[in-house]
Amino acid sequence: MPQAYIAMGADTASSLGAWALWLKILTAGATLALTAVLVVLTLSLYKRRDQYAPTALHFTIANFFAAGYIVADTVVIVATMLARDDVVQLAYRTAIAVLPLALAAYFFVYRCMTQEGWPARRLLVGVYGVGLCAALLPWFDNAYLVVASEQLTITRANIFLDYGAGAAPFFAGCLAVFAVVSYRILRHAPARKSAGISLVTGFGFAVFLLCGIHDALRELGLSLLPMDTLALAAVLFQTFACAVMVWHYSVTLGEQRSQYAQLRSVTDRANRDALSGLYNRCYLEDYMARGGAQARGGLLFVDLDHFKKINDDYGHTTGDRLIQTVAQCMREATRERDIVCRWGGDEFLVLLELGAENDATNPAIERLVRALDQTRIDGIDGLKLSASMGYAEFEKGQWREALNRADVALYEAKRGGRCRVSIAS
Ligand code: GH3
Ligand code: MG
Repeated sequence: MPQAYIAMGADTASSLGAWALWLKILTAGATLALTAVLVVLTLSLYKRRDQYAPTALHFTIANFFAAGYIVADTVVIVATMLARDDVVQLAYRTAIAVLPLALAAYFFVYRCMTQEGWPARRLLVGVYGVGLCAALLPWFDNAYLVVASEQLTITRANIFLDYGAGAAPFFAGCLAVFAVVSYRILRHAPARKSAGISLVTGFGFAVFLLCGIHDALRELGLSLLPMDTLALAAVLFQTFACAVMVWHYSVTLGEQRSQYAQLRSVTDRANRDALSGLYNRCYLEDYMARGGAQARGGLLFVDLDHFKKINDDYGHTTGDRLIQTVAQCMREATRERDIVCRWGGDEFLVLLELGAENDATNPAIERLVRALDQTRIDGIDGLKLSASMGYAEFEKGQWREALNRADVALYEAKRGGRCRVSIAS
């Protein structure tokens, strides 16, 4: 069987070799730190029951195994320098074993990014199970498997061993799964506004692939660079992938926020009267039906007197301005917890919240009467505004019946000569 390199960079006599080693130690530290950050991020997403929690969890798992690969790869080199072949064996087997587990986790990153909710338990067990079986392979010495320990030869510069026949399919399989999963993540990424995301993912993936090919060629003795690059590319890829995930997350959050804002503005428009800006009849009825009338309350109908005549005398535009002015005046004269709505035409309804037994309505009504009496429209002198009101109280959800009584009371106020308040008994 032909001899092949499994690790390089142990030749610290060359300055490039020393740099490569330091860089690997640094990247190993960086990936471990990234894993720690991801654990915190995943926990916080879980607490908030965020929809991104499953993606973050699998990405953390993938990052953990990728960190394992980089650390093990670094240990291989350090142990080679110290001529500790037992440690080299262990670290080398670990480096190969974690690859399929990282791939299984990447598969679920893709899956969670494209489908909402948790993957089915059977799929989780199946994919991670296959990853685990593949991870066990390097631990058995066999002519067909990756490592034959009795064949391992360590010099101070390099490690040589005979690969089993299964090595090529093993690595080719890992590469193929990685390529498919990355391609699918990439295809998903360009969805709206995320051209930058696909660029970053594509770049990280291309670097990783090129370095994989480079290191594979090195193993065949075709050296392009005098050092192995896969571990460095792996950490670069991890960092990019993390950036992609955070980016993707922030784009989704941003979209969600603008959707909420749109929904709020649409709901607000549906609940309000366009001319006066007050709540409309629909809103008040909804509010009451949703239990807003559980407590004690008072309903005050307000109808402007001879409004048709004002329209006729001063024009419709002035009539509109008067409705807006009255609305403003009613808002100012009522409390924060009262609800003022335009029932329709020149008719308004005020829901006065009455908490305690002795919470009197008289002051509230008096305030409104006084405010309406003082209402003037800028630029139109001599326009005297008056309104008639009908008031009724209700208890424990009996608002419909109180509405009728307030309406009858309003009618009585009109009949009694207008510009007055009639209180239903
Ligand atoms: P009353 O004292 O009996 O209430 O007499 P009124 O003239 O106010 O009669 P009523 O309340 O039945 O008529 C309301 C009028 O309000 C009818 C319509 O011309 C006018 N109106 C309804 N909506 C609007 C609006 O949006 N803008 C303006 N300018 N006028 C409106
Ligand atoms: Mg009227």
